[in-house]
Amino acid sequence: MDHEDLNIWAKRAADWATAYHAGLRDRPVRPSVAPGDVAARLPASAPETAEPLDDIFADFEAIVPGATTHWQHPRFFAYFPANASPASMLAEQLANAMAGQGMLWQTAPAATEIESVMVGWLRDALGLPAGFTGTIHDSATTATLSAILTMREAALDWDGNARGLAGQKRLRLYASAQTHSSVDKAVRIAGIGQANLVKVPLDAEFAMDPAALDAAIRADLARGDLPAGVVLCVGGTGIGASDPIAACIAVAKSHGLPVHVDAAWAGSAMICPEFRHLWAGIEGADSVVFNPHKWLGVQFDCAVQFLADPADQLRTLTIKPDYLETRGVGPVTDYSDWTVPLGRRFRALKIWFTLRAYGLEGLRARIRNHVRWAEDLARALATLPGIEIATAPRLSLFTFRCATDAQTEALLDRIDKDGRIYLTQTRHGGRVVIRVAVGQFDCTRDDVMMVAEVVRALNADR
Ligand SMILES: *Cc1c(COP(=O)(O)O)cnc(C)c1O
Repeated sequence: MDHEDLNIWAKRAADWATAYHAGLRDRPVRPSVAPGDVAARLPASAPETAEPLDDIFADFEAIVPGATTHWQHPRFFAYFPANASPASMLAEQLANAMAGQGMLWQTAPAATEIESVMVGWLRDALGLPAGFTGTIHDSATTATLSAILTMREAALDWDGNARGLAGQKRLRLYASAQTHSSVDKAVRIAGIGQANLVKVPLDAEFAMDPAALDAAIRADLARGDLPAGVVLCVGGTGIGASDPIAACIAVAKSHGLPVHVDAAWAGSAMICPEFRHLWAGIEGADSVVFNPHKWLGVQFDCAVQFLADPADQLRTLTIKPDYLETRGVGPVTDYSDWTVPLGRRFRALKIWFTLRAYGLEGLRARIRNHVRWAEDLARALATLPGIEIATAPRLSLFTFRCATDAQTEALLDRIDKDGRIYLTQTRHGGRVVIRVAVGQFDCTRDDVMMVAEVVRALNADR
């Protein structure tokens, strides 16, 4: 296959994509496949000789779509959405065509500079302070890891990278129990240890209690431990709970501790000023991450981390062997100094295309619709016999349940088999609950309200 063939097949792929998206509503959101089904249809080893593209494409059509969970299905309400606007898909095609690697300004001047400008556009769109800069990561997990590594190094007076953690004081980090598992993963990878991630008690709204945060830090200081930082959450994954950002930042600052805020999902909603009360005080944070790939329409993968001052993170992550030195230009931004991996994709292009193709007003309208429709749906579900709303909508996420856990799980199994909608479960307050996360880019109010129709039908005929 050469570039002339690519031209022919890329056009066929574009036609295929159009038909795929047009037909999504007629497919079950999740395929009915068993583990191993797909692997069993592939040969055990790679071909020794070239195969015709016709065969490869035919196998793709026969094997892949039917065994795919359709994240762009308008009735995908599971987890959080991973939205892909058509504009972002187009940008990804162009980035793929150039297939660059943007580790340094020199290896990707356009990608580097568009990244800087896009971080600025998004910072302003979210109402963050003009002084914040930032970078693009693959995922919120990596951004949070970068922030926690930076907290570790600052706490150890920049000695952890050099000497390792053996013989150092015991580091302590603080987060609420609603915080995403990516924080747990980061403390493990950073060598801080799961036992040193303090899960601060919550208040009645499932938000971190600032007084409890203060008490936890004081207790650790009294024991001679080394508090390193606080991770706060806006729009937690389970039920969408948010910590009181201003009050918790005030506590952290009173102890001289840096704060990282995980707004992976809810951050996108902050393009709407009316939702910014959820993170009031955010201007005091040192680091904030949100995923345009969740709710803004910039397709996976794309996580933006804002930094009040990048100096500490650069000091933590920069490593410049001779072969990465850039010669003969003035000061430049090398984004690999800001992130964990050296190599990086041109992710800023899809932000640029998405923001321009829909405008902030177009994106706000979608998010406002999702929030309104989630409220409408919660009201409709609350009227159904045997169904109760477990947690009210926070932005566009709420949870519901049946009278018993067994009934809730049985209902979810029937929903899954039915295939018209896709919902997932979590545990809340010791009970199994079903999450509804509204936010797919192309969903309509009818798509959302179908959840009530499906639940009514499937809960009635049990
Ligand atoms: C989705 C999510 C994450 C993880 O995001 P990735 O980009 O997949 O790493 C972290 N925190 C919260 C609150 C999330 O919703």
